[in-house]
Amino acid sequence: MTATKARRARSRLSLWRIVVPGMAIAAVATSVATAQDKGTVDPKPLPPLANPDDPKTPAKELFGRRTTAAPLQARSIGFYAKGCLAGAVAMPINGQTWQVMRLSRNRNWGHPDLVSFLEQLSQKAPKLGWRGLLVGDISQARGGPMLTGHASHQVGLDADIWLTPMPARELTRREREEMSATMVVAKSRKDVDPDVWTPGHAAIIKAAAEDPKVERIFVNAAIKKALCRSTDTDRNWLRKVRPMWGHDYHFHIRMSCPAGSSDCRAQDAVPPGDGCGKELDWWFRDAIIKPKPAPPKPKDEPKDKPKPRGMTMADLPPACRQVLLAP
Ligand SMILES: [Zn+2]
Repeated sequence: MTATKARRARSRLSLWRIVVPGMAIAAVATSVATAQDKGTVDPKPLPPLANPDDPKTPAKELFGRRTTAAPLQARSIGFYAKGCLAGAVAMPINGQTWQVMRLSRNRNWGHPDLVSFLEQLSQKAPKLGWRGLLVGDISQARGGPMLTGHASHQVGLDADIWLTPMPARELTRREREEMSATMVVAKSRKDVDPDVWTPGHAAIIKAAAEDPKVERIFVNAAIKKALCRSTDTDRNWLRKVRPMWGHDYHFHIRMSCPAGSSDCRAQDAVPPGDGCGKELDWWFRDAIIKPKPAPPKPKDEPKDKPKPRGMTMADLPPACRQVLLAP
């Protein structure tokens, strides 16, 4: 579109309509997205939205179609699970001490502070008995809610790191889509699997937790239990390691709001204490580790009950609209 045409179009149409055709071209489709779910070497573009300027359009449909960073000052806007990211940088897919996985998802975008933190952490890894990092999802190019997978990871300050050390060679594109991360939790769900868990696992998580820029680390409760066996006298780092569902194959690093992100909303401080012992017991009750199957649906429940559509642009901080619409 020429500049004149674009100006004319802008006077006729809402900005939405100008942005949206471009959005459909480069986006990639994924259907599921936990650490161990496979991707594809041949991602298909998402179809264009019929009514992108409808205020009811889920924000995940809009942010999921933005595949490049918003060229603005780097800023994390909003909360980890309700926000967006301006001025993201893409973590390079290869470094000496890291490789990015599941490239088809295009989720290797983060706040520049997070990306440099990950690079620095990876450089420490070999000295800790961990060859390097396999980096899973960070954020979308403009952050925001995602079509699949995470509730958080919206402001470029969350990163999933595989509980598999980087191999000694460069992984192929296909391996990065299809390789599985390592399950470190034992079948009993009550501890880590001693045949899989290594001191390197503990060391890399500890190194991440020790960094003052890191706010929390999420791991499966069995991993937290294993870390609690640490004989460290300074147990401050353990406080940041929080038990959470869905972290059997990866650990999740969450950074604090960076300087210069005045619209970034911090999470409540972690409670005092190392979070070991009694506090952890709740996670190992039978009702938690052996959940009963969901009861059958009542017969009179309508078959096509509408699914919740997720948040819209109105639910996100107002500044996320500029992030979405930036060229
Ligand atoms: Zn995560």
